[in-house]
Amino acid sequence: MSPALKQLHEQALALDAADVLAPLRARFALPTASDGRTLTYLCGHSLGLMPLDARRLLNEELDDWSALGVDGHHRARRPWIEYAELLQDGLAQLAGCQREEVVAMNSLTVNLHLMMSSFYRPQGRRRLIVIESGAFSSDRHAVASQLAWHGLSAADSLIEIAPGTDADLIGKQSLLQLLQQRGGEVALVLWPGVQYRTGQAFDLAAIAAAAQAAGACCGFDLAHAMGNLPLALHDSGADFAVWCGYKYLNGGPGALAGAFVHARHAHSDLPRLAGWWGHDPATRFAMSPDFVAAPGAAGWQISNPPILSATPLLASLPLFSAAGSAALQAKTRSLGQLLLDGLATHCAQTLQVITPAARGCQLSLRVRAGREAGRAVFAALTAMGVIADWREPDIIRVAPVPLYNTHADVARLITALTQALPA
Ligand SMILES: *Cc1c(COP(=O)(O)O)cnc(C)c1O
Repeated sequence: MSPALKQLHEQALALDAADVLAPLRARFALPTASDGRTLTYLCGHSLGLMPLDARRLLNEELDDWSALGVDGHHRARRPWIEYAELLQDGLAQLAGCQREEVVAMNSLTVNLHLMMSSFYRPQGRRRLIVIESGAFSSDRHAVASQLAWHGLSAADSLIEIAPGTDADLIGKQSLLQLLQQRGGEVALVLWPGVQYRTGQAFDLAAIAAAAQAAGACCGFDLAHAMGNLPLALHDSGADFAVWCGYKYLNGGPGALAGAFVHARHAHSDLPRLAGWWGHDPATRFAMSPDFVAAPGAAGWQISNPPILSATPLLASLPLFSAAGSAALQAKTRSLGQLLLDGLATHCAQTLQVITPAARGCQLSLRVRAGREAGRAVFAALTAMGVIADWREPDIIRVAPVPLYNTHADVARLITALTQALPA
């Protein structure tokens, strides 16, 4: 190992020794290679690690189910009838909003559709949906199919804002300019909190304010922002937001997702796709044919929630509040800075960091030599026990996550990169 790399490892160990959040790593299951070595896991932006408590809590649900059967709805140690409510406080804390503004339900894209069923109401010349041109495929499909649902098409009613002079990043200005020029035609702005490919974070309050000044609704896809960056959804004034439970929230594969609906819509009579679980719980079991929406975001629920997909979140969310938002952000910065410094010293010729300063945990690294070399680098990283992920055509994404990653993980990544990269 070169003296510079040695120094990086020593610096990492010193930072870890001073890290107040270090004990939290022991609360997670760390994936291992077939030879038993702990992998360097840097993929929390895609699938968060398993909180060890998840297994115990899931076993409790299975025990209650086996012992109680249907009675578990009322008599389980965590009665299933009210299960989604157990997640409200933790989610509201991370989303920066009131308890009544959040609900745990469904999965991300489903929630996006549900929110658009209420908040995309094209009327007259106000029918455009505005997204970013690099939107996650599922979001693009959801939006295009909503347009088709209303008899419109992406060709005439979808605006996709492309990155400007910097070929990867979207300037806030492009969106604001469009809203100034064509705001009267825009029905909905749907924007990411953090762009999934580049890791770019956006000023959500500014975007929501601009959308609303133009008379449009504003929704956020927070798949890569929830549990990653501090959020203030209520104050942002956004109409709605959606997220998944399995990325930074560590809820497990396909975990229960969530949605935010601003308090000003708590008693909305907008059309919605309704089901019995969104009915006022006080009279839900009267089974009356008339739908009376529960106030707040809970009124958008459709079905009774999948308990076994919700339980791991009960293990994960308390870890966020135990850590505290300030400490989590400080560690995110510290891990990110060490990574940037290491990349600048050791990989500047071969990798380009495309993620801007406005970011959370994720850094996206472009392999300058292109796709083929990039695939080889990525395969070499994997072979060395470093778990990152690959985005076409030439991007390696890594996310050191403050709940369970260490500065030593970052140093190991840099070392592996120096060995994997073509000289
Ligand atoms: C992860 C992610 C999804 C995945 O959607 P699911 O409905 O959870 O399968 C969708 N959109 C974005 C932006 C994502 O990051």
